[in-house]
Amino acid sequence: MNLVFLGPPGSGKGTLAKLLSAELNIPHISTGDMLREEAKLATFLGMKVKPFMEKGELVPDNIILEVMKERLGKSDCQKGFLLDGFPRTIPQALGLDNMLKELTKSIDLVLKFEVSEDCVLKRLGGRLICSKCGADFNLYTKPPQKDLICDVCGSQLYQRPDDAQEVILNRLKVYKDQTLPIEEYYNKQGKLRKVNGELDSGSILINVLHILQSKNQ
Ligand code: AMP
Repeated sequence: MNLVFLGPPGSGKGTLAKLLSAELNIPHISTGDMLREEAKLATFLGMKVKPFMEKGELVPDNIILEVMKERLGKSDCQKGFLLDGFPRTIPQALGLDNMLKELTKSIDLVLKFEVSEDCVLKRLGGRLICSKCGADFNLYTKPPQKDLICDVCGSQLYQRPDDAQEVILNRLKVYKDQTLPIEEYYNKQGKLRKVNGELDSGSILINVLHILQSKNQ
């Protein structure tokens, strides 16, 4: 199955994408994770995208489309894929459709994760990530046992620079202005399904699996 996860930053789509990709045995492709890795390694691409990411702005469409064309052409995408954080603009959605047409594929379903702005601010403002193993914590909902230390591997926890309050507000604005129109794009194609992103991840996974089952019937 070829899936797209849509939703504002902090809607929990990344967490769900990890669970679902393991369940369906298809790759979880997060453009945010890919770009963060490039920025960390200070590659040519990483240096180009870092300033946009730090401000919570979108990286230009032509860069993202090039990255995704290469990624979707890889052999692990043959039996399906789960896109998380892409597409994020109408030109990206059009570019994706063209890419997939060339590969004689198409998007099967788009899941939109719905959450209130309050919930987003709490989730992202409190988010802490392990610098070594990547485990996720939250100051409000899932605090680590020791201050700023990972419960899993004992390494230092950090806050993503783009989880600072003013950057979160900008990311939400960018989402409303540039990404929301994609919902209508996929709705018109009959591919959009809505998911309550405020539930716990186990319940969301069950709901998502129901949606996928009913699509297959
Ligand atoms: P995320 O982890 O998905 O919230 O992405 C983090 C940042 O990476 C975003 O704020 C953007 O700067 C950049 N980014 C990720 N995916 C895209 C995309 N599809 N288009 C443009 N910029 C992106």
